[in-house]
Amino acid sequence: MSARAVSRAASRLHAAAVGAPPRTDGASLEIGALLGRLIAPSGFADAIVRASPPLRVRSVGFHDSPLGASRAFASSAVDPLARNIGISAHIDSGKTTLTERILFYTGRIHEIHEVRGKDGVGAKMDSMELEREKGITIQSAATYCKWKDSNVNIIDTPGHVDFTIEVERALRVLDGAILVLCSVGGVQSQSITVDRQMRRYGVPRLCFVNKCDRTGADPFRVLEQVRAKLKLNAAAVHVPIGLEDKHDGVVDLVRNEAVTFHGPNGAEIVIGPVPESLKPLVAKKRKELVETVAEVDETLGELFLLGEEPSVEDLKAAIRRATIARAFAPVFMGSAFKNRGVQLLLDGVVDYLPAPHEVENVALDLDKEEAPVVLSADPTAPLVGLAFKLEEGRFGQLTYLRIYQGTIAKGGVIVNTSTGKKLKVPRLVRMHSEEMEDVVEAKAGEIVALFGVDCKSGDTFAEPGTNVAMTSMRVPEPVMSLAVSPKSRAESANFSKALSRFQREDPTFKVRLDEESGQTIISGMGELHLDIYIERMRREYKCEVDVGEPRVNYRECITARASFDYLHKKQSGGSGQYGRVVGYVEPLSEEEMREMANAGGSESVVFKNGIIGNAISPGYILACDKGFKEAAQTGGLIGHPVEGMRVVLTDGASHAVDSSEMAFKLAALSAFRQVYEKAKPKILEPVMQVEITVPSEFQGTVIGNVNRRKGTIQDSVADGDDVIVTCVVPLKNMFGYSTELRSMTQGKGEFTMEYAQHQPVSQDVQAELCAEYGKTRKAPAA
Ligand code: GDP
Repeated sequence: MSARAVSRAASRLHAAAVGAPPRTDGASLEIGALLGRLIAPSGFADAIVRASPPLRVRSVGFHDSPLGASRAFASSAVDPLARNIGISAHIDSGKTTLTERILFYTGRIHEIHEVRGKDGVGAKMDSMELEREKGITIQSAATYCKWKDSNVNIIDTPGHVDFTIEVERALRVLDGAILVLCSVGGVQSQSITVDRQMRRYGVPRLCFVNKCDRTGADPFRVLEQVRAKLKLNAAAVHVPIGLEDKHDGVVDLVRNEAVTFHGPNGAEIVIGPVPESLKPLVAKKRKELVETVAEVDETLGELFLLGEEPSVEDLKAAIRRATIARAFAPVFMGSAFKNRGVQLLLDGVVDYLPAPHEVENVALDLDKEEAPVVLSADPTAPLVGLAFKLEEGRFGQLTYLRIYQGTIAKGGVIVNTSTGKKLKVPRLVRMHSEEMEDVVEAKAGEIVALFGVDCKSGDTFAEPGTNVAMTSMRVPEPVMSLAVSPKSRAESANFSKALSRFQREDPTFKVRLDEESGQTIISGMGELHLDIYIERMRREYKCEVDVGEPRVNYRECITARASFDYLHKKQSGGSGQYGRVVGYVEPLSEEEMREMANAGGSESVVFKNGIIGNAISPGYILACDKGFKEAAQTGGLIGHPVEGMRVVLTDGASHAVDSSEMAFKLAALSAFRQVYEKAKPKILEPVMQVEITVPSEFQGTVIGNVNRRKGTIQDSVADGDDVIVTCVVPLKNMFGYSTELRSMTQGKGEFTMEYAQHQPVSQDVQAELCAEYGKTRKAPAA
């Protein structure tokens, strides 16, 4: 009886998986339509047309028959059943456990190991020793698996807020995501952050309310929170059968049937009628589902208005359209740990999340001043792929590549468009956590890893002649720094190796040498971010590190316009030096700053040559530009970079013999020092957006503490037994906060923080910082 039910379930689920997305024959039409859009009058389209002939050779059987073209097109179309998904969650919601179960049910692993399990094996996705120990997932890894007929790539996204760059980079390459929520904890602070990121990157999402087996589980309260806090138009597609220790399975509201999970790993699925006791709830929730989707889907809306009951197929198709359009989020329920509902969630990934060709991706045409160009998920178009992650492991450097357009083939020639370097594709693999499979090619929509390729994460690889870059990923400037040095000389080689690797992998992690002190300074997005790297140096590189006091990355700015007129002149023996620069500096407007930030540039000092005539010969203007920008790297107050300044050159003088690039550069450097004080400079410090969740009884203590840390409370709202306090606090006042919060709240409080902006410090803080800086400047001379 049970075996029959399983096989019935299997064939039904199979049909569901195959039937849901556009069929292969339909897909060729859609791709044709996409191409049509590309052959619109755009520069990039020209590039594609030019690059097309050699590419088409790749499509098998293209030239033979008169029908060959369209057939080849269809056979080489992007896989309509492919899914690139991410799993995002607040820490401890069960993301790792869920991923582990997915790998088990898709046959990629043959045993289930619990996270922090007693068997010492640890979940598959936690590939780094450190992660295993801490039981959290820090780095994303792309894992490939197959669910029924679907090729699914899972990009494991990290949960900690200090690693948001990793989350963002992962989201950039995803076509859809699962947001895991805990049925007890609900929508927690980090869920809000990851959801915001998914929104920013336009990622359609499913919600999975996990841990329905836990004491206190209340998945419908979580659904309410999804609506209220995440502002998602959401409805349940499941109703749990029993909660807490009675949690047995779910009622699938689309099909109106009960699904329970049996056997040691929940792999035996039994489908039955909706239990009598649940019928009223199921009817109510199904109605709610249909109404919610009908509101945003025209087709279902029409049926709804006519009072017709939608068929399973109607409803599924409507949920799919609405989810892909990001107008709706279906909410699944279950328990990863108790093996309830994971297979249905996988069906949901196939049924409701988009295939690669259903997502519009845009690149920048480097030959057309970075004009945006829509890419086509056509495997026969010129290759465009993004290196979204580097990993150095026991196999050497692995570069994870998301192919957006065209096909990458082993042995083919590709170009890194950010360096212009060409290379031959040495070896292509698909990753399954740490294991890999060789492949000979990968098409648009796929995720593969390359071996032995020298690049940075964020680089674009393309067909030679296709000069595009994927839109730049938002890379925030590091907000804090630490001086680090290896404890012994013997470890210095490993020390350098580790730092260079971390820098290549993570654009928010920077390393520089402080010229004055000779110290190595690492910078990143927060304390935990840097701590993790120090820990990794110890473990992976056997390098013990001495760590200095944390430092905040201040910046400086000017607040007034001021003029300069500086003559650099030296004529004592040999060839002389002569250069005079005249002009003014002024602060950039907020709007200009915003525009520059949006354009993605990291520079925020603008140089303008306003000289009419040739008072300074044009050959020396660039030297002036360089001189001012170099000078602005070290502000006159505390030696931190100056931002938001325009330098305008209005006049100057040069000498026929004694002028040189060096003379003008030195003139600019000195002119900047001369004018800086007059331009009323200020120090800016990073302030953080902080969200603290604590049981209500600690509200007073926590708010008092934020005030002492000179934070500004923005909001404080009750959430069940908890209160959520949002505030902005200067980063320098947040050092050591996690320890203090823990002790203030008996370990029950949690917080997240994200860089908000740089803001001027108060007069007394400015005076203090200047005095401290003054002391350090005098110290070496003393
Ligand atoms: P992550 O931090 O989101 O990756 O969460 P993990 O997968 O590491 O899970 C955190 C803890 O919750 C672990 O102790 C898991 O065993 C436990 N856990 C995960 N899923 C469930 C679930 O469905 N039910 C229960 N009761 N515990 C779970």
